[in-house]
Amino acid sequence: FFFDMATRDSGGTEHVLPQERAQATFDVEKVTNLLDGNEKATKRRRWFIGHNEGMGLTDRYNMRREDLFKKHCSDFITIHKKFPNFKPTNKDVQWMSSNSTMLGPFGNHYGLFCVTIQTHASEEQKSWWLPKALRFEMIGCYAQTEIGHGSNVRGLQTTATYDKGAQQFILHSPTLKACKWWPGALAKLSTHAIVYAQLFMEGKEYGLHSFLLQIRDHEHKPMLGVELLDMGPKTGTGNITDHGFMRLTQVRIPREFMLARFQQVTPDGKYIKTRQSGTDNIQYSTMVVTRVSMVAGAGAALAKAVTIATRYSAIRTQGFVDIRSSAHMAPERTILDYQTQRYRLFKQMATAYAIYFMGNRLFELSSTFTEGVGSSDSNFAEVMAISGGLKGLCTLMASDGIEDCRKCCGGNGFLLSSGIGALTGDYLEFPTAEGDAAMLMLYLARYLIKALQKTQSGGVLTSTCEYLNVVGQPGFSLEAQRSHIESTATMFANTSELVGLYRYRALRNLVMVGSDLQQKVLDGMSMDDAWSETSLKLVDAARAHCLYCILDTFAQICASIQDAAVRDVMSQLCAVFGLAHIRDQGDWVGVLDVKALKMSHEALSQMLGQLRPNAVALVDAFDFPDRVLNSTIGRFDGKVYEALYEAAQRSAFNKHDPFEGYEDVLRPHLDLEFLKRGNVVPTASKL
Ligand SMILES: Cc1cc2nc3c(=O)[nH]c(=O)nc-3n(C[C@H](O)[C@H](O)[C@H](O)COP(=O)(O)OP(=O)(O)OC[C@H]3O[C@@H](n4cnc5c(N)ncnc54)[C@H](O)[C@@H]3O)c2cc1C
Repeated sequence: FFFDMATRDSGGTEHVLPQERAQATFDVEKVTNLLDGNEKATKRRRWFIGHNEGMGLTDRYNMRREDLFKKHCSDFITIHKKFPNFKPTNKDVQWMSSNSTMLGPFGNHYGLFCVTIQTHASEEQKSWWLPKALRFEMIGCYAQTEIGHGSNVRGLQTTATYDKGAQQFILHSPTLKACKWWPGALAKLSTHAIVYAQLFMEGKEYGLHSFLLQIRDHEHKPMLGVELLDMGPKTGTGNITDHGFMRLTQVRIPREFMLARFQQVTPDGKYIKTRQSGTDNIQYSTMVVTRVSMVAGAGAALAKAVTIATRYSAIRTQGFVDIRSSAHMAPERTILDYQTQRYRLFKQMATAYAIYFMGNRLFELSSTFTEGVGSSDSNFAEVMAISGGLKGLCTLMASDGIEDCRKCCGGNGFLLSSGIGALTGDYLEFPTAEGDAAMLMLYLARYLIKALQKTQSGGVLTSTCEYLNVVGQPGFSLEAQRSHIESTATMFANTSELVGLYRYRALRNLVMVGSDLQQKVLDGMSMDDAWSETSLKLVDAARAHCLYCILDTFAQICASIQDAAVRDVMSQLCAVFGLAHIRDQGDWVGVLDVKALKMSHEALSQMLGQLRPNAVALVDAFDFPDRVLNSTIGRFDGKVYEALYEAAQRSAFNKHDPFEGYEDVLRPHLDLEFLKRGNVVPTASKL
């Protein structure tokens, strides 16, 4: 607790964070390395983010959309143009966007357009477009979603009809519902678009394919047959992300502009597969890459919010240590020392760490098909399913977590200058973009049910589904798999025991919903109806699988740490992740009894106390520079009150006093004679 050291010009808080940091039991740099992957990766990340040095956006919250858009474009190009031939990896792109001082449409150019060329184009096509795109000589977007269809990608209606005589594809939006709607960077920025369209040749339908289309000419005006519009104001950064509408009217492109890594149309109209992709779903690999990045990005976004809220909570004092004290200057408690506040923050901190580690694992799992490391796409189906489920869950956890961190900051969390208020709005798009959680969970559930059937008929599962292999063993019974965790707080603090519990819950949910489905079909329901009737349970099963994967990944990381101090603190955080999701989720019926639940709460309470001295050091390890946080209340030096005052002084609304329009809308109504007298007691005659 603290005595108030404020003066008229200072909040008296600059000593607080150094004192907090001095209590840390571990080496912060080592944890930063762990989050990045290793020491070399930290160096690489710092090298990237070092390039936005001097590009702070302190005044972002007072800027108009047009000015923000200009600033985003000029900063992005200035930073990246120095490296014209540099091809960033997917992880590099994710680092750049998580540490960007302002996200915007260039994120789509780098993160979607270039990635699609990289993954879908033939080598020859890459040589035409990729160097130009990386040098900003052409700018592109990813035009998949239409007004009528988003989640149901296979139902998109834009057509690409092959004209054999002219050796051209004709791209067309046959209805209003078929017009492109939502692609970022489409409305104003891009010169080109990757357009997803249904391929038709001589009346036959060949499914969804991607095409490169120039949409603006050398004067940046829409090309003939291309109608472009901005969609209108949105919340958060959405305001500068340049989402657009595009209607195509019989636009012709050369045959060579269909992205051809996986298939080609020959001049005489034959459709040939050019590469054994193992699965037709490889068409959707950009979506998978994006979802993998979104998982890692969810960890980073939540980490920013937790950094701000934890530093602020260490500084903010509220409530007397001795609640009976009558002296108004009596020592007060820092809000981080209230168990409720500590729980909310450590839960989000543990979740951010957990998602970071899961993101790293997903990058590894997906690298074989995204960066051409391996020759096989055999794990594509699994990565597509698990990255979908994890994208759904992690972006939801991050979005809810960021909002709770904002609420943890009281009134100041509502100020844009806090950085955390803006973050809440900025992040809102992610649970929706690239697919809503419910729908992605159902997609994962379909994969898991198939995996279950595979093991039931003797197949062997690997990777994230390996734990389901027990189902195929002779004499399998759910009861025999139950994790018999002893109901003591010590056992609940043990990460491998917790992993066992989560594994059992995932197995139980899946086996039970699998037999529900089977029973409904045996009772005469169609598979589609049975699926629809069990959707809620299917979503629960997919969520349980994801949470098991996340916890298991976190626990494996902990087990691999050499440094004892780092291992201890990471294991505590890992346990908090597991225990917090037991505390806040209802679906432990049949897995934990009342006594066990009580003990898990006890273990959680102990962990929160043990982690307390490391709170600030744990968020420092996320390693966000002040210019990235752009926060008055989450600054590294802890001078919160001075920063709040300075930000208020800079508010654009303070530029005019009286306010603009005062003469017309307020002055005529005021009693100017009364106001002229000032703070004097009115005499009876003057009332
Ligand atoms: C900020 C932002 C950026 C975007 N950027 C791009 C971009 O760059 N390029 C691009 O092409 N698109 C982009 N999109 C579009 C985005 O991918 C879609 O909005 C998203 O896939 C959801 O589709 P939808 O809007 O049609 O929602 P819908 O599919 O209509 O979903 C509405 C509701 O129906 C539910 N639902 C739908 N199908 C099912 C089902 N089968 N089972 C159960 N429930 C279901 C969903 O869960 C959701 O709750 C962006 C969107 C946003 C908001």
